[in-house]
Amino acid sequence: MRRPFPRGLGQETVRLRSALCEACGAAPGQSFSHRIAASRGGTYAPSNGVRACGSGTTGCHGWFEAHSTWAGDGGWHIRRDRRDPLEVPVFLVTVLQPLGAWHLLDDLGGRDEVYPDEFGLPEVPVHLPPGHVRTVLGRPLETVPWVEP
Ligand SMILES: [Zn+2]
Repeated sequence: MRRPFPRGLGQETVRLRSALCEACGAAPGQSFSHRIAASRGGTYAPSNGVRACGSGTTGCHGWFEAHSTWAGDGGWHIRRDRRDPLEVPVFLVTVLQPLGAWHLLDDLGGRDEVYPDEFGLPEVPVHLPPGHVRTVLGRPLETVPWVEP
């Protein structure tokens, strides 16, 4: 049984983990998006939350709700309720990883990058939320030019 986690503390911890939306990196984070839904026993523990742009109907948060199966592919949603969010990797954009990488989240606001191979995951989820990769911090992503050696 999951212990309840204080809502305000969980929201604030996730807010401090990332100013940007952790799903697309292209917009400010605006909401705590549950990985295991509150209606299915998901808590406000930081490991159960993704800092997402939009709300339950807009932005990446809305995209997760509208495409829960795809959201499951990235670990943004956890489909099997009995899995522990601490042990399920999630694909997140960070300031240092604008193209995203897999992480395990902890309940203190931390995250550790993991190798997708070790979890049987692809390098990049098949479905990414709109805005991902195409823009970084609101600017078009530049392609690094090839330079002859
Ligand atoms: Zn977003």
